[in-house]
Amino acid sequence: MRRRRIAFFMPALGCARRCVYCDQNVITRDAVGHSAAVTPGRVRRGVSEAGEPVELCFFGGSFARTDISLMTEYLDAVKSAPEGSAVTFSSYPGDFDGPRGLEITDILKKYPIGTIELGVPSLDPKVLSACRRDDDADMAVRAAERLRDAGFHIGVQMMTCLPRQTGESVLRDVRTLAGIMPPRGGWDFRLYPCLVIKGTELEAMFKRGEYVPPELKEAVFTAGAVLLEAETRGFNVIRVGLTESESLRRSIAAGPYHPAFGELAMSEKQALSLSRASPRGPWSISRRDLSKLTGHGGRGIRRLSELTGMTRDDVRKQIHLEKNATLHYNCSEEGSDGNEREDFSDNCGPRAVGVPCAAFGRGDNRGDGAQGVEPGGPHRRDGASAAHDRA
Ligand code: SF4
Repeated sequence: MRRRRIAFFMPALGCARRCVYCDQNVITRDAVGHSAAVTPGRVRRGVSEAGEPVELCFFGGSFARTDISLMTEYLDAVKSAPEGSAVTFSSYPGDFDGPRGLEITDILKKYPIGTIELGVPSLDPKVLSACRRDDDADMAVRAAERLRDAGFHIGVQMMTCLPRQTGESVLRDVRTLAGIMPPRGGWDFRLYPCLVIKGTELEAMFKRGEYVPPELKEAVFTAGAVLLEAETRGFNVIRVGLTESESLRRSIAAGPYHPAFGELAMSEKQALSLSRASPRGPWSISRRDLSKLTGHGGRGIRRLSELTGMTRDDVRKQIHLEKNATLHYNCSEEGSDGNEREDFSDNCGPRAVGVPCAAFGRGDNRGDGAQGVEPGGPHRRDGASAAHDRA
């Protein structure tokens, strides 16, 4: 059931210690529903007036790590919401391990739970240690298995560009988690590139030369490969990149920041996917996927050209739109930013369906603050799903 989301942000709620990269206050400051003091009473009042079933979301910390009686009070708030409502929250995987984790799992079974979002930035012991996480890979896997066996829907929140992390180790982690997903797949997948936020331990590590963030280009390559791996293995990718906000922008000291990182990563994923499926084309794609190749000055076309060794013109000739896709196109031009731009225009005649595209989509350097992207709806701004909520 699709429900309207009402999100409450409780920065670092229940967190036993601070992961080196984390400052939830910065990440959620501009988000809808954020407050340093979200009380159960406030939540109850917030949902009781909803005229339709809602998804009550608790993000920004480790929900199940807080005091059990307080957690239960928050969960009870859903009883004040219209029938059919559910609760979604982010939590540290270790919260569901051991006897306490079993107790919490049993409590959760009494509530309508939408999704349990597990912060699994990495499963690599070297990375977890460098990030000062107090979970380990086995703990995270055991927790996910316990929740899976109890019938809960899980979302995993993974990260790239972390200290001591390599692209290969992220791919390994995706495969490990895919291996414990139910056979039908479908766990939600969020991917966040690590940024150096001012005032965090990671910034100190960066200044001491102990952490060198990857260049943007490299980070996009890694993210694209990870997304492709995740999708191929049955994850449902719902978010890539942090939610862009003024607060976030002001707080970044270093790292692979781009206001539309998610779109760049999706473009990389698309180019990789096509080149692997058919090294020289032809490629039949939907209109939606076409925009992943054509956005940002035709970034995906350039990348496909690099990956295949073909000229851009030859790449274009090998791309065909799937059935029922009609487009209006203009000719290639140079954008105001100097990047080559290939633009469709409503002033031009419609293209025939099923023939190679001579021009590709909107040169879409929107710069509208979409650092992340949600593949199901790339430009959503509902504040809930767009919020960074890793734990
Ligand atoms: S990353 Fe998650 S677990 Fe770590 S300090 Fe931040 S909110 Fe807490």
